[in-house]
Amino acid sequence: MPELPEVEHAARILRTAVLGKTVRNLRVLHRAQRRHLPPRAIARLRGARITSVDRRGKHQLLSLSTGDTLVVHFRMTGDWLVDDAAVPVSKYVRVAIELDDGVRVSLVDPRALSTVTLHRDGSTLLPALGPDPTDPSLRVETLRDALSRRRVSIKVALLDQRVLAGVGNIYAAEALWLARIDPRAIASSLSRARQARLLDAIRAVLAKAQRRSAGRYREDGVGRFEVYDREGLPCSRCGTAIRRIVQAARSTYYCPFCQRR
Ligand SMILES: [Zn+2]
Repeated sequence: MPELPEVEHAARILRTAVLGKTVRNLRVLHRAQRRHLPPRAIARLRGARITSVDRRGKHQLLSLSTGDTLVVHFRMTGDWLVDDAAVPVSKYVRVAIELDDGVRVSLVDPRALSTVTLHRDGSTLLPALGPDPTDPSLRVETLRDALSRRRVSIKVALLDQRVLAGVGNIYAAEALWLARIDPRAIASSLSRARQARLLDAIRAVLAKAQRRSAGRYREDGVGRFEVYDREGLPCSRCGTAIRRIVQAARSTYYCPFCQRR
């Protein structure tokens, strides 16, 4: 599932492909998308110029010359495909944006859970999102405030996009391993030292993933992660078998030796 580094990478690809161009047409190729992109939304998009592409958490925001914003969320398996509008659309394309220079940007999504929504001028209704962990101005006090109100496990708290925007199941597990924090520890009870270590670890795992982000999340994950999807394999730090537990209906992977309470 794409998280902050993968969405950042996708937004960069999108920006290169669409910035400053005009939307000639938008085609909806899957019925699930029609609810958010009815004909009147498509009519508003035609002829609009794309003035900027930004990422907020795991959302990609295309600002348009009309003042509207097109908001894309990949959910589980979304990704961009950039090709020529003249060639037939590929398999699993759900939405295709055709641009005035003949380039086509397609949302490819085997599971079809991605969302594409047009927000009218001034009505960008993103859910409440916490700060971006890659923002250098973010201080540990902000994280501390958010965690102090959460009497759930730290792993579950990190999946809450109101705590930090963009961190998901993979990088939460990786960061907790790096910071040597038990994923079952109660969020509000983490010491100041652990909070600081956790923020550093989150930034480190995201930076590492961004450096690799040419490496896409769909590729074989072997060697990419320290604990994620490594149940039963040895911890690279201590050799203990990585354990998998379920928290809030999601798998958590951790080292029972390095990440003791
Ligand atoms: Zn270990």
